[in-house]
Amino acid sequence: MSGKRQRISGWGGVPEAETELHRPERIAELVGLARAGEARIPRGLGRAYGDAAFLGGGRTVLLERLDRLLAIEEEGDEVFVRAEAGTRLDRLIDAVLPRGLFPAVVPGTAEVTLGGMVAADVHGKNHHRDGAVSNHVPELGLIGPDGARHTISARAQDELFWSTFGGMGLTGFIEWVRLRLVRVPSAYFSVDLERSPDLSTSLARFTDDDDAYGFSVSWIDCLARGSSLGRGVLMRGNWLPAEDLPAKLRDEPYRVARKPLEPRVPLMPPVSLVNPLTMRAFNEAFYRKHPRKRAGVVQGYSDFFFPLDWVRDWNRIYGPGGFQQYQFVVPFETAEAALVQVLERISAAGVASFLAVLKQMGPGQPRARLSFPQPGVILALDLPHRGVETDALLEELDRRVLEHGGRLYLAKDARMSAATFRAMYPELPAWQEVKAKIDPEGRFVSDLARRLELMP
Ligand SMILES: Cc1cc2nc3c(=O)[nH]c(=O)nc-3n(C[C@H](O)[C@H](O)[C@H](O)COP(=O)(O)OP(=O)(O)OC[C@H]3O[C@@H](n4cnc5c(N)ncnc54)[C@H](O)[C@@H]3O)c2cc1C
Repeated sequence: MSGKRQRISGWGGVPEAETELHRPERIAELVGLARAGEARIPRGLGRAYGDAAFLGGGRTVLLERLDRLLAIEEEGDEVFVRAEAGTRLDRLIDAVLPRGLFPAVVPGTAEVTLGGMVAADVHGKNHHRDGAVSNHVPELGLIGPDGARHTISARAQDELFWSTFGGMGLTGFIEWVRLRLVRVPSAYFSVDLERSPDLSTSLARFTDDDDAYGFSVSWIDCLARGSSLGRGVLMRGNWLPAEDLPAKLRDEPYRVARKPLEPRVPLMPPVSLVNPLTMRAFNEAFYRKHPRKRAGVVQGYSDFFFPLDWVRDWNRIYGPGGFQQYQFVVPFETAEAALVQVLERISAAGVASFLAVLKQMGPGQPRARLSFPQPGVILALDLPHRGVETDALLEELDRRVLEHGGRLYLAKDARMSAATFRAMYPELPAWQEVKAKIDPEGRFVSDLARRLELMP
C-alpha cells in the first residue's frame, strides 16, 4: 500500500514536511491502513495551524472521502447526527439546518471535519455556556492502532473515549461521530455590537452580561497602547426567533442567501502583505467602523460563526514565510495581568495581527486530559512568522502564560517546547498510560507528537 509523496503543512504554512499521503475511499481501506505496520497520522482538512496533522517521513491519512451522513436519531427531546469522521462541518450544517437543527458547538471555521473537531476537542463562542465538543458527543467509532473497530462512549471509565478528545489523532482513526444537534429557531442571529475602550472594560463586560448571551467574542486591537491597551469590539448574540426576522426572510427562516465567495487570495504573494503599517491601518479602521453601541443587528449564522470562510485561502496573505497562531487560556483570576503583559510585549514588538480574539471559557473536561479548554479567558492572535525573532518572542510569552497558570492550544501550536507543554499539561502521564495500552508500538504519531514528546 503506497501513497503519493508530497510536501505539506498545517494552515499556518510552517513547518512543512514530506509525507506519504493516503486518501482511502472505503472504511475497509482505512482498517487496512490501521493494520499495516507503518507509522501514520490521520488528517481532516488540515485546519490545525502547526504540525498536528502530518507525519514527516511517515504516512498521513486523509479522511475527507469518508464523509457519509449515517443517521439522524431522536432520543426523547434530544437529537443526534451520526456521520463518518471525514464529514465536513459546512456540509453537515447544509444537511441539518433546513430541518431547524444545528451542531451544539462549532469552531470559527466550518471548513473542518468531525474527526478534526473531536481530536482537538474544539470550542466555540458558547464555551462559557455549553462547553467543548466533548460535552456533546456521547459516542464515537474508533479504529484502533491494531485495526480493531471499537464503539467507545462517555461512560466514566472509558479512558480511551476521553483520551481521544484533545488526543490529536494519536489514539486511532475516528471512524464516525455521534454529535448532539440543537433546535434553532432560524438561521440568523441577533447580534449586539459594542466598542470597548480598553481591556478592563472588555473583560468586565464579558462577565457582567453573562446570562444575556449564548455566544460571545471580542475582537481586540493588539497594537493599541497606553490607556487604550486592549480596546476592542464586543460581538455577542443569540439565535433569532423566526417571528423577529425582517419580513422578507420570515417565510424561509432557515434559508440564508449565500454570498458569492470572495475571490481566492491568488498565488502566494512573494512577501507578506501583513506588516506593522497595514496592520495599524486595518485595526484603526476596524475599530472605528463599528458603532459605539448597536443592538439587534441581524446576521446569518455563517457571518456570525465563520466570517473568515468567505475569503478563500486567506492564510496566503502572510506570504511564503507563513504565520503562527498564538492561542492561550489563562484563569479568570490572573487574566487581566497576563493579558496586559502579553499585549504590551506584542505591541512593543510591533508584530500585531489583525486577528486577535478574546473569548470567555467555562469549565473544562477534566477526563479529557489533553483537552485545551479550562475556565478563564482565551486570547488568540495570528502573527507573521519571522523565524528566530518570532520564536524568541513567543518563547518569552510562553513563560508568562505559564507563570499565570495558563496553557497553549495544540491545534494552533507549531513551536512550543516539550518542557513547556509538560508544565502546561500536568495530566500528560495519565494520557500516556492510555496511549501505551492502545498503541504500545507508537504507530499513531505526528510531527507534533514527536516535537512535544507525547509518546510514552
Ligand atoms: C480560521 C480558523 C478558525 C478556527 N477557530 C477555532 C475555534 O474557534 N475553536 C477551536 O477549538 N478551534 C478552532 N480552529 C482550529 C480547528 O477547529 C481545529 O484545528 C480542527 O481540529 C481542524 O479540523 P480538521 O478537520 O481540519 O483537522 P486537521 O487539521 O486535519 O487535524 C487536526 C487534528 O485532528 C486529527 N484528526 C483529524 N481527523 C481525524 C480522524 N478522523 N481521526 C482521528 N484524528 C483525526 C489530526 O490527526 C490532527 O491531530 C480554527 C481553525 C481555523 C483555520
